[in-house]
Amino acid sequence: MSPPTRELSVVVPLLNESESLAGLCDGLRKKLDGKIDYEIVFVDDGSRDNSWKVITDLYHEYDNIKAVSFRSNRGKSYSLAAGFIEASGKIIVTMDADLQDEPADILRMVDKINEGYDVVAGWKHRKASLFRLILTKIFNFSVRATTGIKLHDFNCSLKVYRSEVVRNIKLYGELHRFLPVLASWQGFRVTEIKVANYERRYGRSKYGLARIWRGFFDLASIVFIVRYGKKPLHVFGGLGMLFFTIGFIVDLYMTMLRFQGEKIGDRPLFMLGTLMIVLGVQFFTMGLLGESINYSFSDSRESRNFYREVLKHDDQ
Ligand code: UDP
Ligand code: MG
Repeated sequence: MSPPTRELSVVVPLLNESESLAGLCDGLRKKLDGKIDYEIVFVDDGSRDNSWKVITDLYHEYDNIKAVSFRSNRGKSYSLAAGFIEASGKIIVTMDADLQDEPADILRMVDKINEGYDVVAGWKHRKASLFRLILTKIFNFSVRATTGIKLHDFNCSLKVYRSEVVRNIKLYGELHRFLPVLASWQGFRVTEIKVANYERRYGRSKYGLARIWRGFFDLASIVFIVRYGKKPLHVFGGLGMLFFTIGFIVDLYMTMLRFQGEKIGDRPLFMLGTLMIVLGVQFFTMGLLGESINYSFSDSRESRNFYREVLKHDDQ
């Protein structure tokens, strides 16, 4: 990330949104000009329409616009990550390009940051089919239940961060929806406010229903990464011991029967016992593998990410 020079950076990831971009820029100028020192950071995620041409024109017209483009489509998480690298604001906003968010909400969210919060998530009331609404509710409930982060809407694109937050968090895959979860886990203060949400005016949504169930996989990864990513043996070791112990007891019992003269070769219980021993050993070794991968890739300097404040004299 560039050193902070602006008050605020609005990071806009976009894929084939040429019709919306000028309007977006206008909306931001109307609501933010004169109120806060800001820049817009466009990240063109491999658009195949006219988007980059529109962005280039806007860039030549205004001096508070920055833009990068990807050679091919990489997804919203990588686009946001690139935007965060290029952004120079002390406060970072993420916003969609499709005019579904209300630029005026940004200032209300910035007020919350100035109250002392590190992350402010938007909470939108989306108009969608009943089926989709129910799935979304289940998704949000599951995220709350498994992560303990009490937000109503994890999918809202409009979010505001103090720049330290996005600087400290690795973003890849499809994990952008969980930025507030990762932030909260790192000790940042997270809150939410209700925001407006409009219908899409131009183009169409880049995601289908598939995103919702993929969201559950992402949730499983994030919960695992957050809780056990750095100590995989605590999960796999436990599972391994459990399976091994049950298998061992079962087979011990079988062995006793064998010594009493019974035939055990065709007993399903014997198979089960053996299977559990093998699985147990495999779980355990999987955990050990995970630990050694961690060891090779980890860097104790990472703990600097956890600092809140440092007091040091010049000569220290
Ligand atoms: N987007 C992107 N890369 C992608 C898919 C989407 O940068 O691979 C952008 C898209 O242009 C928009 C934002 O991410 O600015 C949200 O996408 P969309 O509006 O399609 O999602 P929805 O609002 O339907 O959830
Ligand atoms: Mg949208």
